[in-house]
Amino acid sequence: MNIEFKKHLLAHNTFGIDSIAEEFAQIQTEDELMEVLQYANKNQTALHVMGGGSNILFVHDMKGIVLLNQLKGMQIAYEDKEVVHVKCMSGEVWHECVLWSVAHHVGGIENLSLIPGTIGAAPIQNIGAYGVELKDVFVELEAIHLHTLEKKIFTNQECAFAYRDSIFKTKEKGNYFILSVTMALSKQPICKTTYGTIQQELNEMQVDAVSIKSVSDAVIRIRRSKLPNPAEIGNAGSFFKNPEITTAHYEQLKNTYEDMPSFDTVNGKKIPAAWLIEKCGWKGYREGDFGVHNKQALVLVNYNHAKGSDILSLSEKIISSVQEKFSIQLEREVNIW
Ligand SMILES: Cc1cc2nc3c(=O)[nH]c(=O)nc-3n(C[C@H](O)[C@H](O)[C@H](O)COP(=O)(O)OP(=O)(O)OC[C@H]3O[C@@H](n4cnc5c(N)ncnc54)[C@H](O)[C@@H]3O)c2cc1C
Repeated sequence: MNIEFKKHLLAHNTFGIDSIAEEFAQIQTEDELMEVLQYANKNQTALHVMGGGSNILFVHDMKGIVLLNQLKGMQIAYEDKEVVHVKCMSGEVWHECVLWSVAHHVGGIENLSLIPGTIGAAPIQNIGAYGVELKDVFVELEAIHLHTLEKKIFTNQECAFAYRDSIFKTKEKGNYFILSVTMALSKQPICKTTYGTIQQELNEMQVDAVSIKSVSDAVIRIRRSKLPNPAEIGNAGSFFKNPEITTAHYEQLKNTYEDMPSFDTVNGKKIPAAWLIEKCGWKGYREGDFGVHNKQALVLVNYNHAKGSDILSLSEKIISSVQEKFSIQLEREVNIW
């Protein structure tokens, strides 16, 4: 086990914030993981599990150990005429697994192309994009309890997946290290092209016969044109979740804001947070090295040397102004550390 002290985390988070970890360990094998967990338990040290750092905003230096997950490997766990169950180790890069599925003509995750980060983080917030969520293909995951070191299988139902949510953000928050995730991919995939501008992009690409490869390519093209590349401008994708409001609240707002977009949900209406933020005048806002992206109001950005606390307080101002104007409480999607 190799523990590094006072490790700079600048290169390990897409926001590009230079937090310093008191202790830092990278693990490539399950044995190395066990050593770090035992070490943390013995010394009663806080342990923070990280993958690609694409959904974290550091607001201070990290006490305890930051554990960087690099458990690699993929295998087919089950296969029949219709489906393939792929078991991916949690340190695998999510998009690499999408590319694997496309190359092997098994569908279900092509709409989730180019989401940054690791397989192990995907269930935490039930990653989603373009009408698909991880839960749609999720079979089970294996996790290890950080303190008892007991292993446990969580089924789809046990993960309690919801919109950008799972049991690992609520009841079991910070309790488990996810070791692997198994997904069911279809050998006769039905491509989902109706969400967002996928169909329009396919038309522009002059695709006649839609395939999982063309859908993946279309999603990649759309994302590249819409979202800032973290390699160029620090960000963690959508900073806020799209809020859900009651139908009565929606009807009331609609009297004033006729152009307010919405999506039906089981309990009411979902309103795009980007629209609310833009209506409050934040789109393109910049203060020194931090601000709100000028093309995508949902994305807060670090232009150069912003502090995490600056970005957090900007998010607080945005939450207050949306609350004041629309009586809607925005919730952060990004994990604040
Ligand atoms: C440009 C950009 C676009 C994005 N687009 C989307 C999108 O379309 N849809 C979407 O859902 N998300 C999106 N995201 C957010 C992000 O990519 C996902 O949340 C991703 O799953 C995070 O993976 P990660 O490995 O970087 O996790 P990290 O940021 O390292 O960690 C995130 C959380 O997961 C926990 N975690 C990580 N690995 C494990 C593990 N093995 N066991 C237990 N806990 C773990 C961490 O403790 C932390 O709480 C985007 C981010 C960026 C930067």
